[in-house]
Amino acid sequence: MQNQPIVVKSPLLPMTLDTFKSKVKKYRQYEMTSLGILFLGISFLVFPTTILEDRADRVGFDTSCLVIAVVSGLIFAVVIFYGVARFPQKRLRQLGLICPNCDKPLVGNHKTQLSVIKTGCCRFCGAKVIDSAA
Ligand SMILES: [Zn+2]
Repeated sequence: MQNQPIVVKSPLLPMTLDTFKSKVKKYRQYEMTSLGILFLGISFLVFPTTILEDRADRVGFDTSCLVIAVVSGLIFAVVIFYGVARFPQKRLRQLGLICPNCDKPLVGNHKTQLSVIKTGCCRFCGAKVIDSAA
């Protein structure tokens, strides 16, 4: 008896190899944008730091300093969280680059991507995600 590949129920899958490759390309572009935003967020941290240093020099480290530090720290954490974790994940889902069977990304490191291109299946659960016949 032959092992039947797991057939996934998703309107986006299985896709053709070309579709997959162009989606990966799109995602990589998005990744670069996301990285840019991240760097912007990091360089933005210079402002509260400058304000803090200035104020600490003049009046000492008071409550306002603490508030500025905590608020900017929180904003920074939110930017990092959304930029690194949430948005890429959402984008992956939009592009159909998340395995609908096991919910793991079909891109990520190069190995994952190559494995999908080579086998047409999800690297983690083996669900068929690329329609090799098309
Ligand atoms: Zn899978």
